[in-house]
Amino acid sequence: MAGNLDIVVEQGTTKACSSCKWGSPDFVNPLKGTCIGHKNHLGGIWKRLIPDYYNCTCGKYEEGEVDFREHV
Ligand code: SF4
Repeated sequence: MAGNLDIVVEQGTTKACSSCKWGSPDFVNPLKGTCIGHKNHLGGIWKRLIPDYYNCTCGKYEEGEVDFREHV
């Protein structure tokens, strides 16, 4: 059974998108972000907007080294 993959705001979460390996900050507004941790039903990468990069999380959170070079 799949977990809940909806992106939800959780103020002060320890599992924020900012420390998740699937997230990267939006280059226009770094308080927002983009998540590439989800696939659509065809297996393609489904980019999702993260409304609050530091206070959002989801059921697919995976801690990872956030290496900005890999996000370029
Ligand atoms: S997988 Fe979830 S916690 Fe990780 S960046 Fe995407 S929305 Fe945020």
